[in-house]
Amino acid sequence: MTMKFSERVAGIEISGIRKIFEAAGPGSINLGLGQPDFDTPQHIKDAAIKAIQDGKTGYTTNNGLPELRTAISKKFKNENGIKYHPDQLIVTAGASEALHIVMQAMLNPGDRVLCPDPGFVSYSSLATIAGGKPVSVPLTKTLHIDVEAAKKLMAGAKLMVINSPGNPTGAVESEESIRALVECAADKGVTIISDEVYEHFIYGKKHVSAAQFGDNVITINATSKTYAMTGWRIGYLAASPEIIGQCLKVHQYCQACATSIAQYAAVAAYEGDQSAVKVMRDEYEARRDLIWGGLKSLGFDFPKPEGAFYTFVPMKPALTEKIIEAGVIVVPGTAFGANAPEYTRFSYATSRQNIMTALERIGNLVK
Ligand code: PLP
Repeated sequence: MTMKFSERVAGIEISGIRKIFEAAGPGSINLGLGQPDFDTPQHIKDAAIKAIQDGKTGYTTNNGLPELRTAISKKFKNENGIKYHPDQLIVTAGASEALHIVMQAMLNPGDRVLCPDPGFVSYSSLATIAGGKPVSVPLTKTLHIDVEAAKKLMAGAKLMVINSPGNPTGAVESEESIRALVECAADKGVTIISDEVYEHFIYGKKHVSAAQFGDNVITINATSKTYAMTGWRIGYLAASPEIIGQCLKVHQYCQACATSIAQYAAVAAYEGDQSAVKVMRDEYEARRDLIWGGLKSLGFDFPKPEGAFYTFVPMKPALTEKIIEAGVIVVPGTAFGANAPEYTRFSYATSRQNIMTALERIGNLVK
């Protein structure tokens, strides 16, 4: 019997990034992963251990522990200058689940979702799974959102994703661009999803939260990158009570609540010592300089990445293949959309030693 699957799901590809990992041999240097190579800070782990020992292992309220939502609400006020009441937050299984429930709650069949292209792999897939229609928003030569092109695409669209600092580009959008996008979206009845998971990893520029410029913004963030907690699966979304009410229904039925133990750990993350975040940020900046300088001296000419932990390098696909064969795992631009077939993403969430070895291997290929 031929099984008939949902066309929405059957029609999308397995993540291109996963395919590359599966091909990695022993001795490979992994510049493919979007995952901090740091350990979660000890005080956060201690809070999780205490939660287990205190028997705090049951369901929490659907929208997340009140003390965690209060801590995140304070963070929004202090770091981003935005007022979100704790009831305007839902704690999710990472930013991924937040993106999923927003798409499910907001989209009707065929609704258009403007996604940066190249952009993070999940946006267009989750839009498709929710029945929406992803539409590519092109980037400029410096890999920033092409604001004028985006504005033209907004008429009749339902959602637009902004991701600053961006994956895979490492680009940080200016205040001027974000403000212009939010204001134009408000004018056209478009809701902005602002994915800010890399907000703490910016080198020189300043992070700007889109929600400062309008209430037509859903802010998504997570502990995953900021606190080196990818496996703990704690993220959140913040939005108007009306949007939260709809999103909560999806979250309630698909997740019940985020993992209780990890939520207690996340309280310690937001309320505890932040020095580990600065240490990671400074190290990423040093690695950014190392990889960008190294690739530049090998003849690759591209703008210096401004944030996150990625460099997005213009490169012919044949060379990308050779680099992977030489044991340096990188991700071809095709994994991030249709617009960047001649780019390759290098992650520098790995040691300086690994970066130097990778540069040496690439140097041997391009000499
Ligand atoms: N958004 C962006 C831009 C990402 O790069 C990632 C992960 O790589 C996510 C969201 C997903 O984050 P999480 O692990 O919290 O689900």
